Amino acid sequence: MRAGPNTSHIVAVDINSIPRARPRVLVFGGHDPSGGAGIAADTSTLLALGCHPLVVVTAITVQNTQALKRYQLLPPELIAAQASCVLDDADVAVSKTGMLGSSATVATVAGILSRAPASPLVVDPVLLADQGGSLSEPDLGPALRKLLFPRATVATPNLDECFALASTDNVDDAARELLALGCQNILVTGTSAATPQVVHRLYRSSSEEVEASEWPRLSRNYHGSGCTLASALAAFLAHGHCVSTAAQLALEYTWRALQHGYQPGLGQSVPNRLWRSQADS
Ligand code: PLP
Repeated sequence: MRAGPNTSHIVAVDINSIPRARPRVLVFGGHDPSGGAGIAADTSTLLALGCHPLVVVTAITVQNTQALKRYQLLPPELIAAQASCVLDDADVAVSKTGMLGSSATVATVAGILSRAPASPLVVDPVLLADQGGSLSEPDLGPALRKLLFPRATVATPNLDECFALASTDNVDDAARELLALGCQNILVTGTSAATPQVVHRLYRSSSEEVEASEWPRLSRNYHGSGCTLASALAAFLAHGHCVSTAAQLALEYTWRALQHGYQPGLGQSVPNRLWRSQADS
């Protein structure tokens, strides 16, 4: 009889609870060294939700939980090279874009995404940092409208981004204007509205109805909620849910991550994206 490995130190796990096939999700986003937003948020959300993140860095930001100091976009050629390299190697179930910063980056990412025109795409139109300050050049909005919204399965603007990208400050009209660009669904997050409950709205090109979703307002000020939501949406789409169900599941996952949020520094709180496995934190 052959001697087996010494397994006395191995903790028993239910092998059936480990996902066998982790869908690959391709994300394009900026690095936030505070760990609150950007690709740290995307990576931790996707891993927590049973997906494998393929991460293409578009920008480096200099920020903490109190302030954004500056950002530097990476050269388009380097962004394209990162994406081509992973796409030559792995199949992508869903793609998601976060901080792109300029029209040059948008054009590069749109070119890469044309390699898989049929796969779902979540577009988080990042314009501003939550602590204040811009994460984009003035040419970003028009480029998103022209090159990415027509290709998007879902876009996830917050109210300010929705108004900045459209020509009206009526939320229904703004969302319908963005749908008219070719985007199939718009999930407008409503945290910044002065309402007792937070109301998020899903607008669909296939329906006149708006799917509103109300959540108790949490008292803290958060950094990274938008990235968490958009990545969770990408994850649930990658697991095969329809947009409506994926949006509901992503909103619930994000609300609970915020409820379990914590303050890693002196400023804003960040979502605890591992709340499902860390009930006490
Ligand atoms: N991406 C990066 C790199 C950021 O630094 C930020 C905010 O600071 C965002 C995205 C947007 O953050 P949120 O998820 O809070 O919308």
